[in-house]
Amino acid sequence: MKIAIIGAGAAGLAALRRVLEASTEALPIEAVVYEKTGKIGGTWVYVPETGKDEYGLPVHSSMYDSLRTNLPKEVMGYPGYPIPENSEKRSYLTRTEILAFLESFAEHFKLREHIHLYHNVELVEPVGGTSEWKVRVRDLKGDRSLDVRFDAVMVCSGHYFEPAIPVIKGADKFKGETLHSHDYRRPEHFAGKRVVVVGAGPSGMDLALEISRKATSVILSHHSTEEILTQFPANVSQKPDIVEMTVNAVKFADETEAEVDAIFYCTGYKYSFPFLSRAAGVRVDDNMVAPLWKQVISIANPTMALIGLPFYVCAFSMFDLQARFVLKFWTNKAQLPERSVMLADHEKEKKDRFEVRGWSKRQFHMMGPLQGEYYDDLARTAGVEGLPPVLIKIHNVSSKRFLDDLVHYRGDRFEIIDSDNFTSTVAQ
Ligand SMILES: Cc1cc2nc3c(=O)[nH]c(=O)nc-3n(C[C@H](O)[C@H](O)[C@H](O)COP(=O)(O)OP(=O)(O)OC[C@H]3O[C@@H](n4cnc5c(N)ncnc54)[C@H](O)[C@@H]3O)c2cc1C
Repeated sequence: MKIAIIGAGAAGLAALRRVLEASTEALPIEAVVYEKTGKIGGTWVYVPETGKDEYGLPVHSSMYDSLRTNLPKEVMGYPGYPIPENSEKRSYLTRTEILAFLESFAEHFKLREHIHLYHNVELVEPVGGTSEWKVRVRDLKGDRSLDVRFDAVMVCSGHYFEPAIPVIKGADKFKGETLHSHDYRRPEHFAGKRVVVVGAGPSGMDLALEISRKATSVILSHHSTEEILTQFPANVSQKPDIVEMTVNAVKFADETEAEVDAIFYCTGYKYSFPFLSRAAGVRVDDNMVAPLWKQVISIANPTMALIGLPFYVCAFSMFDLQARFVLKFWTNKAQLPERSVMLADHEKEKKDRFEVRGWSKRQFHMMGPLQGEYYDDLARTAGVEGLPPVLIKIHNVSSKRFLDDLVHYRGDRFEIIDSDNFTSTVAQ
């Protein structure tokens, strides 16, 4: 069996570890990872440049220079491979520490020899009449394209690289600067400017605070329903959504107006799989990727899996669980249900999210309060080990602290006691 893994970020590395582990004498598996950049680690690889890379491809990473994680290291490790303690006993790490962890993971599980760097996947399409796949990959250094056949494909290409920018009346009239957080690297960029930050997700909150050190004034414009108790510095104010832009100003939903020099979109990303052929049978509709069984296996072609779509999750652990889930079926250790059953499950999930919870398509892959249920369902369905509840408990505490005290929460410390319990020290 030959499996292609697209991308060597945290998801691709998790998948590769489990593919290698699933290979047996009775069913040997060959694993090939294609990674378009020159490094493993995906979005954790900081690239000072923005725009296009040396091969004319869009820069993938959205990492900014000062980033510290928004989750404690206790929930960011992999099952059986936690992030080790550091000398200062810090829970919230820097981007360089996470990248070093991913590199150590790759060394430990001897992943590197399977990873082809500078290989950009351009096309993935099913081979008619079979369950196989043709993968067209561009060897960027060798300047040639190859077509390679695989029995199965794991798409691990990430979903924080294609900026989503809201449509706002008058946006074309605005003469100041506009920037999306994908292209943000350092706060000096906004020195001396009056900036409106759009969106109060993890990036919007963090970056409003970060740029307030350099910008003249910062307006955080958002429609968050969660109460933000954080005390921002005096030059940061909050406003509802922007309803209109003019040449040099923005108007808000509360009918107030402000002159600004720059609009900083922290409005998230679009799921994008430019290499998937139509025949692959997966569509993105208003940021809902479908139809997938349990948010991971393509229902149209179940020898394709998309690892890592859900958000507000314990990401690295979830990637690992999803990979183990998928491999159980691909190695015939569990039987995939009929297509009609998978479709019925998908419809049930849509109904639950849209009708029962009143969520939109954009929230289809949001886990948050549902993450524990999701992990348990994957584990139960495939008969694989689940994730310990303590991860979700810490995740919940950390997310609340993020909203309540953005300025200090990264000083908190967590310690896992067992699969259910933890202790924490709160920073003041
Ligand atoms: C600014 C920022 C901060 C974050 N902070 C946290 C945090 O604190 N904690 C947390 O848990 N999560 C955080 N995340 C989420 C983070 O994205 C995930 O934790 C995780 O790193 C995603 O891994 P991934 O492998 O799915 O995607 P990525 O890291 O994006 O990796 C995808 C890889 O696929 C490659 N690729 C893409 N297309 C192709 C192609 N066609 N051919 C070949 N290779 C391709 C890319 O080059 C890349 O290396 C953050 C994300 C961002 C953007």
